[in-house]
Amino acid sequence: MEEHLSEIISQVYNKNKRNLFAFLTGAGISADSGIPTYRGVDGIWIKGTKFHKPEEFGTLKYFKENPEEVWQYSLFRKKMFENANPNESHQEIFTIENLLKDRFHLITQNIDNLHRRAGSSRIYEIHGNNREIKCSNGCKEIMHLPVEIKGKNIDEELTEKEINLLKCSECGSWMRPNILWFDERYDEKTNKIFSSLKIAKNSGILFIIGTSGATNLPIAIAETTLKYGGTIVDINTEDNHFTELIKNKKNKIIIRDTSTQALRTIKKIIENIN
Ligand SMILES: [Zn+2]
Repeated sequence: MEEHLSEIISQVYNKNKRNLFAFLTGAGISADSGIPTYRGVDGIWIKGTKFHKPEEFGTLKYFKENPEEVWQYSLFRKKMFENANPNESHQEIFTIENLLKDRFHLITQNIDNLHRRAGSSRIYEIHGNNREIKCSNGCKEIMHLPVEIKGKNIDEELTEKEINLLKCSECGSWMRPNILWFDERYDEKTNKIFSSLKIAKNSGILFIIGTSGATNLPIAIAETTLKYGGTIVDINTEDNHFTELIKNKKNKIIIRDTSTQALRTIKKIIENIN
């Protein structure tokens, strides 16, 4: 496997066109930092006596009916993200970014900010992020979450002051986290749909790490790389939707190892080319 990987990496490195190195990451990469996956059992939000599945809770429809509750959840997650630290996989990716510079692109489904905190900057956050807010009624501007609003414990209610800070200054509607919910579509402004597909098109190699491909943009990214002759490297602990997509294709490498171990190998290969 390592030999094959090394061969493909140096081929892409020496190409003049379609020679970008793209990394697509998901919740699996943050698991070692103690952040549960959104869909995993731990991701279920319990409020009072109500148990919610993410698919019903993580929707614009639910937010419109229960804005304070969704904000409490979002601020609870904010505290969890802030208390977590980037792990070795985030750090290995940042080291690879430094080796490849502008030929490196990181597309992440994670909203937890751990890639940036590890130092990465060439990032496309396709599911949005928890640091920004926008009007739930569609006023255009995307803003930072006001600094006065801190992360919360699971049973902490919003204060009057926080509620006021979370109202749109244009129309008075609730502001909402700038993340993609299950009943929403990808767009360029929030989700970088066109930018990420363009990167996929120009990538000679796409490393997929810690994501199963349960949403449609990540799958479209992998399909695009394949369509233009790039290779997919599926680094996950088990088979997933991407594996299904590439199993009969020629341009693929499947690695069933931890992300940290696989990234160490990739970094070593790239260091030896430089
Ligand atoms: Zn508004």
